[in-house]
Amino acid sequence: MTATVHGFQTQVTKLLDLLANSLYSNKEVFLRELISNASDAIDKLHFLSLTNQDLIKDDPNFKIRIRADKESQTLTISDNGLGMTLDEANSHLGTIAESGTEAFMKELTGDAAKDSQLIGQFGVGFYSAFIVADKVTVLSRSANAKEEEGVKWESDGNGTFESENIVRKSRGTEVILHLKDSEKDFLETWTLRDAITKYSDHISTPVELYEEKYEAPKEGEENKDEKKEPKFEYVQVNDARALWTRPSKEVNDEEYKEFYKHISHDYQEPLTWAHNKVEGDLEYTSLLYVPKTAPWDLFTRQQDHGLKLYVQRVFIMDKAEAFQPNYLRFIKGLVDTNSLPLNVSRELLQDSAVTRKLKKALTKRSLNMIEKLSKDKDAYQSFWAQFGNVLKEGPVEDYDNREAVLKLLRYASTKNDSNVQNVSLDDYISRMVEGQDKIYYITAESYEAALNSPYLEQLKKKGIEVLLMWERIDEWLMGNVTEYAGKEFVCANASDLKLGKLADEEEKKKQETASEENKALIARFKSALGDKVKDVIVSTRLIDSPSCVIADGNRMMTMQMRRILEATGQPIPEEKFTLEINPEHALLKKAASETDNERFNIWAELIYEQALLSDQGALKDPSSFVKCMNKLLAE
Ligand code: ADP
Repeated sequence: MTATVHGFQTQVTKLLDLLANSLYSNKEVFLRELISNASDAIDKLHFLSLTNQDLIKDDPNFKIRIRADKESQTLTISDNGLGMTLDEANSHLGTIAESGTEAFMKELTGDAAKDSQLIGQFGVGFYSAFIVADKVTVLSRSANAKEEEGVKWESDGNGTFESENIVRKSRGTEVILHLKDSEKDFLETWTLRDAITKYSDHISTPVELYEEKYEAPKEGEENKDEKKEPKFEYVQVNDARALWTRPSKEVNDEEYKEFYKHISHDYQEPLTWAHNKVEGDLEYTSLLYVPKTAPWDLFTRQQDHGLKLYVQRVFIMDKAEAFQPNYLRFIKGLVDTNSLPLNVSRELLQDSAVTRKLKKALTKRSLNMIEKLSKDKDAYQSFWAQFGNVLKEGPVEDYDNREAVLKLLRYASTKNDSNVQNVSLDDYISRMVEGQDKIYYITAESYEAALNSPYLEQLKKKGIEVLLMWERIDEWLMGNVTEYAGKEFVCANASDLKLGKLADEEEKKKQETASEENKALIARFKSALGDKVKDVIVSTRLIDSPSCVIADGNRMMTMQMRRILEATGQPIPEEKFTLEINPEHALLKKAASETDNERFNIWAELIYEQALLSDQGALKDPSSFVKCMNKLLAE
């Protein structure tokens, strides 16, 4: 069979051009990528061999081998893992599928200098071979295939690759790098040993380096200067104990970070991690990480997530979602357990009691890890910016951990002078004013709208802090939680602020007399607005604003929320509000002095609609509002 020439996917060509021309600052990362691929291939075959011993019976000891050959200037990384068929080689080594590389491609600016800097931060998988090689040959055979179904794949990285079937006796893959003249350093044992140890110490497969054998000179031979051919042998250079099986005291931060990159395909370091070993009834080891940045698809439903599952140190599956609640889907890592059978399948996982127990335990671990992170204010702010809105799904999704998740939430507040979300519910409670026993908050369309909301006026005057919320999810969340640490949540726009001891008798009296005094005005408003409003009353909460609207019960829906729900086809009943007016306000005084009834109606309309507008952020019929306003302005 002759080799077939294939063109690379356009993105690959672009990537390869960049790799070839970039001043790569950390060239040795190609070793990390290739060792990582070899180790993945071995994990996959190891798993398949659990149910089909025949796959590995001729070569049962998994290993990765690295061999430099100075004469041919090649460096070969080989593994006896799963290998590839011709089709697999053509598609896996000719296109970009992995999200890490995709993310990298998205970040590219087209500016060569900037882009080459970027490369240094990303792992670009197999293609990183072209950082140091001007030609790459891959020999492979799938463990499932016959000898004559071996594969040879070759490319110089210039737009095309060639591939063909060959006869290959052994299974697994051999990646042969024809090193550039400038990269001959990677043929030297000490350079290789250094890099390989760094990138493979956490891998559970032995990694062996082909090294010159050291032979102690025999007695009496020291000074003979007859030339001896050097002898070579494979020497294992890594510890080959899976990182998570080592006691956490023995693992340093660098190793944890390196391991994160290996399992997550993330090019950045993790924000934090937690490594736990649990013995007893439910036996497991978990290693959980919080990434630095959220994946672009964090809020899409099909987002891949889940932990790597190992059973008795054997890799079983990637992205096992069954161990995490949805709102912790950003957490990466693994769980290794002795409590599940080796032949466990995704379906079995779904309805296993052990899975449920593990999920419960791992959820607690994750929440503890985040709670610990929250002690570091700066780190937590960066975490919050990335994952805060996902965490807010928690109190509703996970009833058992409702309080624990609420504890982790952060909000902007009237006690801050910026929109920074850094106030916890515990902070809030710790500085409640005397006699306060409720947590006050307001939801609005934006920070500014929340901050300047007329509903806050009375609370502000009493020195009561109000949490300011404007994320889409806030309204939904607050509609589904009633209290934290025994303190009821009360929305500042509620008809009854439940001020309790904080209510002012004097104020109440004042309102009563004001209601008496303004009886006529209220009656005029009621007749002007008719059944648009439920009621009209004199407000106690308003100080600087002329009016506001309130609904029955705790809270109402913003226009935005209403539109979202309407768009999903849900019938939303028209809401009728009570209009609160502030007779002390200049605008109300002006309206009250209006003797012409028709003109008063326009005033009433305007005062009602502006209250609606500042509450809802939008109006059903903005142009009629504008008309009213213009009429009065023109006079
Ligand atoms: P990633 O490892 O992020 O998926 P790579 O570009 O490194 O991306 O590799 C692409 C694919 O090629 C792998 O997912 C795997 O299917 C295949 N592959 C690479 N190296 C090997 C190997 N040593 N053995 C078997 N398959 C491999």
